[in-house]
Amino acid sequence: MSATIIRNVRLIHLETAAIDSTHIFINKQGIIEKISPVLPDDFEHYHIIEGNNHFVLPGLINLHAHLFGNGNALSAPSTPFLKHLTFRLINTQLGKNWLRSIMRKNAQTELQTGVTTIRVVGEGLYQDILLRQQINHGEFIGPTLKASGPMLSAKDGHGTPFVARESTSISDYIQNCHQNIESGVDWIKICITGGVTDAKALGQAGQVQIPLGEVEAICQEAHKHDILVAAHAESTKGIRIALKAGVDSIEHGFSMDEEIIQLFKNNPKAYRGYSVLVPTFSPAIPFVKLSRKDLGVTELVYQNGKAIYQGMLKGFHQALQNNITIGIGNDASMTLVTHYDFWRELVYCKKLGKLSNQDVLKMATSGNAHILGVEDEYGTIAVGKIADVILLEQNPLENLKALKTISLVIKKGIPVDKTQLPKLKKVDRLLEKMDDKA
Ligand SMILES: [Zn+2]
Repeated sequence: MSATIIRNVRLIHLETAAIDSTHIFINKQGIIEKISPVLPDDFEHYHIIEGNNHFVLPGLINLHAHLFGNGNALSAPSTPFLKHLTFRLINTQLGKNWLRSIMRKNAQTELQTGVTTIRVVGEGLYQDILLRQQINHGEFIGPTLKASGPMLSAKDGHGTPFVARESTSISDYIQNCHQNIESGVDWIKICITGGVTDAKALGQAGQVQIPLGEVEAICQEAHKHDILVAAHAESTKGIRIALKAGVDSIEHGFSMDEEIIQLFKNNPKAYRGYSVLVPTFSPAIPFVKLSRKDLGVTELVYQNGKAIYQGMLKGFHQALQNNITIGIGNDASMTLVTHYDFWRELVYCKKLGKLSNQDVLKMATSGNAHILGVEDEYGTIAVGKIADVILLEQNPLENLKALKTISLVIKKGIPVDKTQLPKLKKVDRLLEKMDDKA
C-alpha cells in the first residue's frame, strides 16, 4: 500500500461542529499523518482518493452487536431436545465454518454502511475470536472487532446454548470466565437477567439469573486480567446486582433509583471506578410502534417487549439527567435489527433523549471509542489515529439520515469495495411502516 491523500473533503470537527475544507494524508501503515488544506508539489506520488467535497466523519463504532443473525425474526428450536441437537450440528467443523461465513458477511455489511469498529457481545463457539484473527491478519477487509466470545449465563439462562455458556456454581463461572480469557476475548459478557424472548411470564424478562456473589467472582477474575465486564441487565434489581459486583457496562438497562445512579458514577469495584450504560433501542422500539401481528410474536413476548422498552427509556433519561456515561449500540442480529441500519440507533437516541445531531455523532465515535478503551487509535480524525473514515454527500449535523447513504468507507487507509447490500424486504417494509408513525 502506498501513502494516500483523500483530496478535497469537508472535515467535520465533532467537538466544535466546525467544518474545514482540507485534505487528509495517510501513511503506508494506514495512520493519519497530516491534515492540511495545502497539497504537496509531488502529490502525484501519492495514491489519491477523490473526496469530491464530501463531508467526512470518523468511522462509526457499534458498541453492542451480534453477528450470528441478519435481522430476520429470530426463532429458537421449540424443544430442549431440538435445541441441543441443533447446537451439536453447529458444533462441528462444517457447522462452525458455516456460522463464521454468516458472521463475516454481516461484519462486512456493517463496515460498508460506516461501522468501522464493533464490540461483539455474544457469539457461539469462539467464532468471533477466529473472525477477528482473520481480519487482523489481513485475510480479508473487515471492521475492527472487539469480541466477548460466548456470554456467561446461568443453567438454561439467556442465550444458552448457542451464544452463551452455562454455569451452575461460582467455581464454574470462574472457570468459564477464565476459558474465555484464555481464548483471547477482549471483554467478558454476562447475562444477569433474562431477556424478552425467553421470559415465561409477564414481567419476567428482567428476572435475575445470576446472584451477586457469582457476578462478583466473574468481575474479579476479569479485572485481574485487565478485562472489562459487560452485563445484559433488563431490570432495576439486575442492574443493582451488576453494579454492586463491579460490572463495567450495563447493556439495555432499566429504570434506576438513587443508589444505582450513584454507583454508575462512582463504582469502587468497576475497573475504571465508574460504569457506563449502553441502551439498545433498535430491537425494543418495534414493540411500541408495530402491532403484535406485524411482529408475529405471542401476547406474552409483546407485553414483555413493551415493558422492557419503557424501562430502558426511563433509564436512558435518568442517565442523561445525571451525567452517566452512555454508549451507543443497536443489538444487531436481533429481530428487525439489520447490519445496514446502525444509523437508526443514532436517530432513536437523538429523538428519545432530545439530543443534538452533534451529541449523538460524538457518542457513536469518540464516546464509544473511550468506553471501548481504544480512543488512542479510533473515534476521531486526527494525526496519529488510524484512518477509519467515512464520506457523506449530505451534512449529518443537519440531518442524521445522511448516514444512510455513505458515499465511501475507508478502513485503515483503504477504500472499502461497495457490493450489493443484503437487503431484507420484509424487515425494510416493517421499519418503513415504523418511520411513518414516528
Ligand atoms: Zn445483545
